Amino acid sequence: MDHRLSPELEELRRTVEEFAHDVVAPRIGDFYERHEFPYEIVREMGRMGLFGLPFPEEYGGMGGDYLALGLVLEELARVDSSVAITLEAGVSLGAMPIHLFGTEEQKRTWLPRLCSGEVLGAFGLTEPDGGSDAGATRTTARLDEATDEWVINGSKCFITNSGTDITGLVTVTAVTGHKPDGRPLISAIIVPSGTPGFTVAAPYSKVGWNASDTRELSFSDVRVPAANLLGEAGRGYAQFLRILDEGRIAIAALATGLAQGCVDESVKYAKERHAFGRPIGANQAIQFKIADMEMKAHTARLAWRDAASRLVAGEPFKKQAALAKLHSSTVAVDNARDATQVHGGYGFMNEYPVARMWRDSKILEIGEGTSEVQRMLIARELGLAG
Ligand SMILES: Cc1cc2nc3c(=O)[nH]c(=O)nc-3n(C[C@H](O)[C@H](O)[C@H](O)COP(=O)(O)OP(=O)(O)OC[C@H]3O[C@@H](n4cnc5c(N)ncnc54)[C@H](O)[C@@H]3O)c2cc1C
Repeated sequence: MDHRLSPELEELRRTVEEFAHDVVAPRIGDFYERHEFPYEIVREMGRMGLFGLPFPEEYGGMGGDYLALGLVLEELARVDSSVAITLEAGVSLGAMPIHLFGTEEQKRTWLPRLCSGEVLGAFGLTEPDGGSDAGATRTTARLDEATDEWVINGSKCFITNSGTDITGLVTVTAVTGHKPDGRPLISAIIVPSGTPGFTVAAPYSKVGWNASDTRELSFSDVRVPAANLLGEAGRGYAQFLRILDEGRIAIAALATGLAQGCVDESVKYAKERHAFGRPIGANQAIQFKIADMEMKAHTARLAWRDAASRLVAGEPFKKQAALAKLHSSTVAVDNARDATQVHGGYGFMNEYPVARMWRDSKILEIGEGTSEVQRMLIARELGLAG
């Protein structure tokens, strides 16, 4: 497999690298400290076409693929993870389910606005009583045949992009029936923002990703047309497993970006900072630490690109996606810890990007499947699960 980028992909990578340095880096720290969603930056990302990257041009997309999306996420996260996760969730969780499973009408209604970044989409799977065990969904949707509407009741938690001023929809998973053996049939249903009975709580106070939007949602007799069903009734579980498999590649690319950003900042600082009459980077202990960080970022990059290439080629990629997500999130946490150490006391000051990277790294071992869940998936692919 050739891991070098085509000239088009290299140009995309460079364009986003410049955007991250020139537009995101100088401004994001203030948004982060104020826990404020960076609307202007997100609007600019929309103008660049980033929200439409892996979608067909006929729906307003750029006609790219998951490799292109991963490159963009990596470059953004090298500088800041809040904008990267806003893009990741908007594309992989908000728009992708509609692209993969939507009817022609659903695609025409939603994709052009989602691709332009004019509206953001969200995906509501996790509930207060369980995230890893998504089969334990308690939210219900009952079809009211008299009005041809779904009536939704329940709640969701930790949902990214669900409460911004530009959020247009949340696709929620809900129990719509039961199999003969009693197991729940889960379906995915599009709920437009502002639907009566659909309440979005205030943003959480989070450890990291502070310039991104994460909320708890509740549904009290929320009525949406029967036509808002996404894909087939009862297939919601299989659908979101597919969405999460793909999303893991995106999170792995994002984690790789954070790991690389830690290297970038550490190299710079090790040359500037002097101790005992010479740059701290002249010490082999610091050099070796940064060399190890670079090794980890590099192998994480190979892992997510391998999984993305398999996905793009239409080959099985489940195990590679889980491997990439597990490895890259582990090295992101490692590199964030080591970059902070290289920065000494300044690494503990929020004005330094590595402090933000440290706070943003831990969630990568949790979101879109914890590290334990990745290990379960890998073991299952190895034929070990019971
Ligand atoms: C900032 C943020 C944004 C998020 N965005 C979204 C979003 O947009 N949409 C969405 O649907 N969700 C979202 N999530 C939810 C996220 O995906 C879940 O938090 C995650 O999947 C873990 O679920 P949980 O928090 O319920 O933990 P639990 O499932 O309760 O797990 C708790 C611990 O137990 C471990 N564990 C559980 N089962 C096992 C097992 N069988 N064997 C070994 N260990 C196990 C887990 O690995 C974990 O360490 C987000 C979360 C955060 C924090």
